[in-house]
Amino acid sequence: MIHAKNVQGQKIKVSFSGEKAKCIDCGQDVRGHKGRMKIPYWQHLNKKDCDAWFEPITRWHIDWQNKFPKEFQEVSLIDPNTKEFHRADVRTNSGLVIEVQHSPIKPDEIEQRENFYGKNKLLWILNGESLLKHCRLNYRYEKKEMSLSFEIPHYLDKSPEFNFQAFNEYFLKSQALNKIRIHPDLLDFENQNGNYFLFHFNNSVSFESIKYELIYDARKILNILLNEKFHEDYLNEFKINYTDIPQDRFRNINLIKKYWRPFIDLMKHPVFIDNLEGIETDKIYFYQKNEIIDKDEFIKNIEKSWLAGYNKKHLL
Ligand SMILES: [Zn+2]
Repeated sequence: MIHAKNVQGQKIKVSFSGEKAKCIDCGQDVRGHKGRMKIPYWQHLNKKDCDAWFEPITRWHIDWQNKFPKEFQEVSLIDPNTKEFHRADVRTNSGLVIEVQHSPIKPDEIEQRENFYGKNKLLWILNGESLLKHCRLNYRYEKKEMSLSFEIPHYLDKSPEFNFQAFNEYFLKSQALNKIRIHPDLLDFENQNGNYFLFHFNNSVSFESIKYELIYDARKILNILLNEKFHEDYLNEFKINYTDIPQDRFRNINLIKKYWRPFIDLMKHPVFIDNLEGIETDKIYFYQKNEIIDKDEFIKNIEKSWLAGYNKKHLL
């Protein structure tokens, strides 16, 4: 476990090896272990954890717990009737329990844990790297589009000093536009009407940061073209509309179950798999719904995620 209590009863982490504290759950003496390579943890002096479901701590485990406030981490729950207690990896304010599972788990224990924690709410996060080494998630992205268009004030068109074709010649050579044109995920690019550009990508690409560079480049070109006759008014009227069409949803998601762990199918509560081969590290796979989710979104909406998975499995 990563937390114990000090003499003041505060929840503390290990500061140095050999540090003494008490187990939050059973009150027995625990000793801190900390080393350069080791993950700091508390151990009961008799080396036997009072939680029967105890599992050795891993870095992955702690990283997940640390995504939540300290008061949500390692929260002990007691059954008032049987006095049985267990230490949930994470328990949120609303009572959602998150079990972070690095190693295989026996079917009996799945049932026990789901019965114990599931009275509240339970969500599983499994480590694909340790549990599903040979499995792989295949999918493809929907095409993503990004369009760029200029608003040209009507009087600019009538202005004898300005030639839109000349503008485009410059603009197509601009540094900012070039960044988009040489992007490895760019599929094709169209220029319509001279003031509308459409880019197709085969991947989820964000050009939000280039938006300002594009505006800057466009203004610079206007400055050159309009020369000393340039008026500040022109620049203010000349606008770039940048539309990022979000089509970065995943399609044809297919989990290739090679050396699959059948215990996962016994889990009745929502199962999310982290570190699965084939997906980026900032995404997580929602097993029952066959969905790829952004990790930040998942954590932010963790209650909703649970509800979505639970409804699917139990109510539909
Ligand atoms: Zn204890």
